[in-house]
Amino acid sequence: MSAPSFIETLRNAFGDCVCTDAVSLRTASSDWSGRYGSCSAVVRARCEADVVTLLRLAQEMRFAVVPRGAGTSATGAVLPSGHAVVLDLSAMNRILDIDTRDMVAEVEPGVLTQRLQQAVEEHNLLYPPDPASSDICTLGGNVATCAGGLRAVKYGVTRDYVLGLRCVLLGGEVFETGGRNLKDVSGYDITRLLVGSEGTLAVVTRITLKLVPLPPARSTMLASFLTDDGAFQAADLLLANGVWPRALESMDAQALRLAAAAVGEDVEEAVRSRLLVELDGEAHAVHEEQTRTMTMLQPFSATLTLANDAGAHARLWRGRRAISSAVLNISPAKRSEDLGVPRGQLAAAVTELRGIGEAHGIGVLVYGHAGDANLHCNFLYDPAQAGAPERLEQCVQLAYAAVLARGGTITGEHGVGLRKREALAASLGPVRSRLMRAIKRVFDPDNLLNPGKVLPEDCA
Ligand SMILES: Cc1cc2nc3c(=O)[nH]c(=O)nc-3n(C[C@H](O)[C@H](O)[C@H](O)COP(=O)(O)OP(=O)(O)OC[C@H]3O[C@@H](n4cnc5c(N)ncnc54)[C@H](O)[C@@H]3O)c2cc1C
Repeated sequence: MSAPSFIETLRNAFGDCVCTDAVSLRTASSDWSGRYGSCSAVVRARCEADVVTLLRLAQEMRFAVVPRGAGTSATGAVLPSGHAVVLDLSAMNRILDIDTRDMVAEVEPGVLTQRLQQAVEEHNLLYPPDPASSDICTLGGNVATCAGGLRAVKYGVTRDYVLGLRCVLLGGEVFETGGRNLKDVSGYDITRLLVGSEGTLAVVTRITLKLVPLPPARSTMLASFLTDDGAFQAADLLLANGVWPRALESMDAQALRLAAAAVGEDVEEAVRSRLLVELDGEAHAVHEEQTRTMTMLQPFSATLTLANDAGAHARLWRGRRAISSAVLNISPAKRSEDLGVPRGQLAAAVTELRGIGEAHGIGVLVYGHAGDANLHCNFLYDPAQAGAPERLEQCVQLAYAAVLARGGTITGEHGVGLRKREALAASLGPVRSRLMRAIKRVFDPDNLLNPGKVLPEDCA
């Protein structure tokens, strides 16, 4: 297949919705992993029929297709290579239905997560999954990565809210899996298989999401500690005593200062860690739980701030959400790894990760979802410094080994993408590896759908 002839075919099929200009190709070849790929064209789908046509042509002409939402992947999951065509789904962004009786929403994949959250709140409903990127990422991307986020400790992750999917297979065949039933055990659970499959099995064109009642009250507080593991001890204490917050976010000494700087707050020199706690429920229950939480935290926290109004609440979360980007204010480069461990291992794992960084002359900044023991461990380095990229790579491999040895995972929510596929392959063992490869072959025998992601390139 020659590139010009296949682009001509795309133009005939999609007209102005095919882009081949340098800016579009460059944008579609990037994501938040900091790496770049390459592609021949971008097709901006307007409806499912466009997806069907593209996937039919891809099979006939044997070109690779990379589905793309908003491109906020932190793992290179959306990076194309060679002559691939990027299928941009961001314009398929209609909220099709919010059904207050069935308590479900039907959406197209390009809807921004925050837009759905706001839309359902007007109906007194909550869509709980809340990745820190909610204002810039799409629900299609969330489904394909099984996004987690800030409320997972109480409400679970995207997987727990996907009831049904409408999808297109390579070749153009459309199928539906699941639906609006809250319980459904009819056969293998293909819906769950597709959630987290990172665009390697099928393209999602419609999503049915479970909603829950909007809790009428919430309370947010920020506790500061004078020790590095004060935040983890506090998180343990709360959970062990029956407090079940909807968010339980820890920040180390560097991360908390970035969050504070983002909202213009000065932090005392002595503060070493912080815990952001958010409770929700009926007003009286939240009030009671807030009192208990404060009683437990007061004795060993240096300061305890309660967000008394909507402005204070928004400020705390604005600071927290700013950390990821702000890391680059203090380091020329970072490698963010979303490592997970069983909750009881959290503090010890972080100490071990810091030790690995120190031994290799690489900075370590840790923040994230302490409640579900899924931490964003940022390795800070200067790529221009001799040997730094190699030392970084050693650190990352040792970090993976460290969490795996603790029964943990190399990714709690960002997924495998390009970046972690070798680490995944090494950790799978022969049976899981064989099963995963076989699943990929059943859905995509020619290995044309987002090839080289999750599993190494040669998987077909
Ligand atoms: C500042 C920041 C904070 C973040 N915080 C979190 C967090 O708290 N929790 C978390 O889980 N993640 C987080 N992320 C990672 C990222 O936002 C999520 O992985 C998100 O789900 C990706 O959505 P997207 O629309 O950008 O998808 P993309 O990056 O465009 O794509 C991601 C993957 O989904 C596939 N895909 C996209 N749409 C479809 C579709 N319709 N059909 C099939 N496959 C598709 C792509 O091929 C790719 O494999 C964060 C990222 C940033 C930049």
